[in-house]
Amino acid sequence: MAACDVLIVGGGPAGSSCAWWLRRAGLDVVVCDRRTFPRDKICAGWITPQVLAALGLDLTAYAAAGLTAQAIRGFRISRVGDAESHVRYPTPVSYGIRRCEFDDYLLRRSGARLQLGHQVDSLRREGSEWVLNADIRARVLVGAGGHFCPVAQMLGVLRTASEPIVAAQEAEFPLSREQEQACRVEPEVPELFFTRDLKGYGWVFRKGAYINIGLGRQDTHQLSDHVAQFVNFLERRGTIPAGLPAKFRGHAYLLYGEAQRPLYGDAVLLIGDAAGLAYGRSGEGIRPAIESGLLAAQTILEANGRYGSDALAPYEQRVVARFGPRRGGVNVWRVFPRALLQTVAGKLFGNARFARHVVLDRWFLHAHQPPLPMPPRRAQRIPA
Ligand SMILES: Cc1cc2nc3c(=O)[nH]c(=O)nc-3n(C[C@H](O)[C@H](O)[C@H](O)COP(=O)(O)OP(=O)(O)OC[C@H]3O[C@@H](n4cnc5c(N)ncnc54)[C@H](O)[C@@H]3O)c2cc1C
Repeated sequence: MAACDVLIVGGGPAGSSCAWWLRRAGLDVVVCDRRTFPRDKICAGWITPQVLAALGLDLTAYAAAGLTAQAIRGFRISRVGDAESHVRYPTPVSYGIRRCEFDDYLLRRSGARLQLGHQVDSLRREGSEWVLNADIRARVLVGAGGHFCPVAQMLGVLRTASEPIVAAQEAEFPLSREQEQACRVEPEVPELFFTRDLKGYGWVFRKGAYINIGLGRQDTHQLSDHVAQFVNFLERRGTIPAGLPAKFRGHAYLLYGEAQRPLYGDAVLLIGDAAGLAYGRSGEGIRPAIESGLLAAQTILEANGRYGSDALAPYEQRVVARFGPRRGGVNVWRVFPRALLQTVAGKLFGNARFARHVVLDRWFLHAHQPPLPMPPRRAQRIPA
C-alpha cells in the first residue's frame, strides 16, 4: 500500500492550491480525483488578480501556453429591465479563464502525485492514519471534493436536503464568426443582470472565442425556467444573437455565512466548496477555494506532524480572520425588507457610483482585500 504525508481528495482549485503549498514545503502529497484531467467544471470562470498573486501565477506565460486569459476592464450592471450602469477601469480588474484549462494547469503545476479517474470507494481510520480504498495511507486528509465531497460525506456533515444552497446553470461554447459579429457583449466588459426579485443574477461573459451565459439563484425552484426567461430577455434586447446552441448544465453550492459544515476534525480538514466558503454576495468560489487551500496547508505545516483537532483548530481561526464570522454576517438582502429593496434596487444598480464602489469593488472584486502572501519555499521536510 502506498503512503504519503497528506492525501487530498479533489483536484479543483482548492485541492491543487493546498497541494502546491505543501509540495513547496517538501511534503509528499497525493491528490486523488474521480475525474481524469483536463476536466470541465460548471462555472462562469472569472478570477481576480488577487488569486493570481496568491499563487504566483504569470498570466502572460499562461496565455503564451495557448490558454484563455481574457482581461476584464469593465462591467455593465443592471436589474433585469431597468437602467444599466457602465463601469470602466483603467487596468484589468478580473480575468476570464476556462475551467477545463485553468484547473488542469494548477493541478499539474502543484507537483503532487496524482491519482486521477480514482473513485473514492472507502475512507477509514486505521490507528493514526487514513486509508483510502485500501491502497493509499496518509497521516492527514483534506476534503476538497466540492459541494458533494466524499470526505464531508464520510464525516456526516453533508446534508443536501437541508442546506441553503445556491443553484446555478451555465453554458459555455465557441461563437462562430457570424455569431461573434452579432453578439453585442464586449469581450472586456461582461454584463451582469440582477433578477427582479433579487434572489440571484445572470451573466453574459465573452472570453476569447467563447461565450459563457448563466444564472444563479438562492432559490432552487424552477431554475431552468428562470434561465430560459433570461436567455429570452437577452435575445429580445439584442445582447446575444437568437438561437445560440446553448446546452445549460447546473450545479449547487453553499455560500459563506450560510454553510454549517465544520472546517476541521481529527486529522482532517475541509476546504473550498466542500466547506461551503463561496462569497455570499457574488457566489465567487474560486478565490475562497484557493485561499482556504493555502490556509489549510499553512495549518498542516505548523502542526508539524501532530494532526489532532487541537493542532488543526488554527485553520478555522484563519478562515474567520480572512472571511469574517462564519454565521450571521450582515447580509443586506436579509437586513432590509425585500419589498423596500425591490423599490430602490433598480435605481441603485443604475447608479454608476453605487455599481462601481459597492456592487463591483466590494461585492464582486473584493478590491479592499489584498492577496494572501505567497508561501515561502522551505527546505525539504517530512513531518515527525
Ligand atoms: C454556474 C456556476 C458559475 C460559477 N462561476 C464562478 C466564477 O465565475 N468565479 C468563481 O470564483 N466561482 C464561480 N463559481 C463557484 C466555483 O465554481 C466553485 O466555488 C469552485 O469551483 C470551488 O472549487 P473547489 O476546488 O472547492 O471544488 P471543485 O472545483 O468542484 O473541485 C472539486 C473536485 O473534486 C472532485 N470530486 C468530487 N467528488 C469526488 C469523489 N467522490 N472522489 C474523488 N474526487 C471527487 C471533482 O471531480 C472536482 O475535480 C461558479 C459556480 C457555478 C455552479
